[in-house]
Amino acid sequence: MTLSHGDHVDVIARARIAAPERFDPFGDELVDVHMAEGAIVDIAPSGALPRHGRVVDADGAWLIPGLWDHHVHVTQWAMSATREPLGHVTTAAQAAAVMSAVAPGADGRRVGDGFRDAFWTDTPSLADLDAATGDVPTYMINADVHSVWLNSAALRREQMEHSPDGFLREEPAFEISRRLNDVPAHLSDPLVSQMARDAAARGVVGVVDLDMAWNEEAWARRIRGGFDGLRVEFGIYPMFLDRALTEGLQTGDVARGASSDLARVGPFKVITDGSLGTRTAACSHPYPGDPGNRGILTVDPATLVDWMTHATAGGLSCAVHAIGDVANAHALDAFAVTGAWGSIEHAQLVAHSDIPRFARLGVNASVQPTHAIDDRDLTDTIWADQTAHPYPLKSLADSGANLLFGSDAPVSRLDPWAAMAAAAFRTGDGREPWRPDEGVSLRTAVAASTRGGSNDPALIHPGAPADLVLCAADPLHADDGALRAMVVGATVLGGRLTHVA
Ligand SMILES: [Zn+2]
Repeated sequence: MTLSHGDHVDVIARARIAAPERFDPFGDELVDVHMAEGAIVDIAPSGALPRHGRVVDADGAWLIPGLWDHHVHVTQWAMSATREPLGHVTTAAQAAAVMSAVAPGADGRRVGDGFRDAFWTDTPSLADLDAATGDVPTYMINADVHSVWLNSAALRREQMEHSPDGFLREEPAFEISRRLNDVPAHLSDPLVSQMARDAAARGVVGVVDLDMAWNEEAWARRIRGGFDGLRVEFGIYPMFLDRALTEGLQTGDVARGASSDLARVGPFKVITDGSLGTRTAACSHPYPGDPGNRGILTVDPATLVDWMTHATAGGLSCAVHAIGDVANAHALDAFAVTGAWGSIEHAQLVAHSDIPRFARLGVNASVQPTHAIDDRDLTDTIWADQTAHPYPLKSLADSGANLLFGSDAPVSRLDPWAAMAAAAFRTGDGREPWRPDEGVSLRTAVAASTRGGSNDPALIHPGAPADLVLCAADPLHADDGALRAMVVGATVLGGRLTHVA
């Protein structure tokens, strides 16, 4: 029988289990995994039980639990398919030239994304950008999303105060992203569906969606329109906290108005400092060449405690963006004071004395291993004077912290295999591994890429949800290249195929 996308599956036959945690006695033996009503009901030596219904023949392939990306900006990631990629650009002048050749969209704007101005060899100038791009409103979004570069026509259109170089940072930059992402549903929803298909083809069954919007409405609409490619837990930002509390939304609740239980309320999400690439992450030592700049706390600690107290009392978990060591210390303090549960997002620079506090407080470390590799030159230069620990993956894991992996797409590609490879092998471009002592085991990397994370990974076990991925190679014994090139033969979400090769 040939099965295709959308079909329900009753048996995955002749598979090898490669889960990071397992209680079955079968070792390398081929097994059949029997499923019913969205859950695993039995695991038996291949052929021991009759195979009824729809059977996927794994032909000896390796079966792992469904993968999660714990930090995605879904609309921003989906929309980036329509934006001019600027990741390869090495100067401001080149960025301006590339954008000048882009045809404006239906709304009259030109939009590019993914630039990394920290690596540019010249100084951006608004006059030069205007000379290249003229009267067409032109927008460029930093790879880290914490800054945008606009020409004068765009600044006028958005009624933003002109900065001397045309850059906007932090909240005004987020506001520009929100406006650019606010496109009619008939344009964005097909892009989101395509993004979900691409994710399923990489073995992803779920994402935490941290778009800066009232996400419940969007997900209920998409699901009513037939979206069924991923599980989604969506974040709630401070501007929507009162509304969420007033309407009684609690973490884990199914999105109201949706016709399935795939979309659920996720955490209260708050951004408390800037980023490394924009040189705004709140650190204990100044940025080089800029003695007054130690980054910024975008939420003062008292306000953070106040918001987290309300969120916790209302039944919401908390996801706190903290990149610099000062921001991480304040975030940990706020978890300690409020008794909140949830995660610190990024944890890119952590004081040595703060590393054990994640485990002690039960705060998940939601990290993006690809950033460590993409940012290695930035870390080695603009964070060279910092005394705290950059990208402390193994240190956190060894201290007992629960690691959750994500991409922060579009900051890096939504690809859990790239994240696992970066976490374990600490390189991505053939260079020598960066700080290899902070590499984690493949077992930890795979576990951190499942729901539950490195300490409590999803299980392949009777009673567990039938969220499963068939891999052409054994991920627990793969090298860097094999992980990155992993062929996913099938992805099953609640017993239904969301991808078949
Ligand atoms: Zn993010």
